[in-house]
Amino acid sequence: MYHAISPRPETSRGARFCCAPQRFRSHLQLLRAAGWQVLPLDDLVALVRARRPLPTRAAAITLDDGFRDAVEHALPLLREAGVPATAFVATDCIGRANEWMVREGYDARPMLSPDEIVRLHRSGVAIGAHSASHPRLSLLSRDDAEREMRSSRDVLERLLGAPVRHFAYPYGDVSPRERELARLVGFTSACGVVPGPIDPNGDPYDLPRLEVCGWDGPVRFLGKVLRASLRGTRRVRPHGVG
Ligand SMILES: [Zn+2]
Repeated sequence: MYHAISPRPETSRGARFCCAPQRFRSHLQLLRAAGWQVLPLDDLVALVRARRPLPTRAAAITLDDGFRDAVEHALPLLREAGVPATAFVATDCIGRANEWMVREGYDARPMLSPDEIVRLHRSGVAIGAHSASHPRLSLLSRDDAEREMRSSRDVLERLLGAPVRHFAYPYGDVSPRERELARLVGFTSACGVVPGPIDPNGDPYDLPRLEVCGWDGPVRFLGKVLRASLRGTRRVRPHGVG
C-alpha cells in the first residue's frame, strides 16, 4: 500500500505518505529481483474466494486515496515495470484536494479529476472505492457507514461504466460490522492495513496490506516485505525497529 508517489518535498510528518518516484521505481525493481510476482488484485481475490493456494511470493500493488500523482508519476513507472496496480479513490475529493488530511494538519495535495480516473482505468489500473469522505467508518452509524461505501462505489461505477469490485477501509478502520457492510454492499473484497501474508482461508473482506512509507529505502523496504510475508508463519518481531 502506497499513498502519494511524488517528488514534491513534504513536511516530515507527511513524508510517511509520500514516496518519491525514483524510490517507487526501485521498490518495483527490488520486488522482481527478490522473486516476487505482482498480480492484479482481482486475481489474488479470486484465489482467496475460491480458497485456492496462492503462488509463493505473490503480491498486489495498491495506491490509496486518489492523489493526482497516481497518473502523473505512478502510472508511467507501473507501465515501465509492467506491473498491475489498484488505486482506491475517496470520491468526495475527486478533482479537489485531500481535505480530510488538511483538517489533520497535512499539506494539501491535488486529487485525481474524473478524466484522470478514467485515464487510469483505461490504462489498466484497477479503480477501487475508498469511501466518499474518508471517515473512520466505525465511528459512524451503520446507515452512514453503508452510505459511505455504497456512494463511493456508485460514483466510480457511473464514471467508469464498469464494475468497482474492491474497497479499502479508510485508516484501515474495520470491525466485523464494516466487513459485513462491505459484503452487503456487493464488493468482492476489502483491504485493511494490517501487514501480513494473504491467507487463502482468510476473509476476503479483511485482506492484509503492508504500508510502504516514503522513507523506506531498499534495505528497509525488503526487510518490511520479508517480515510481512513471514508474519503468522512464525514469531516475528514487530517492524519499526531500526
Ligand atoms: Zn486513505
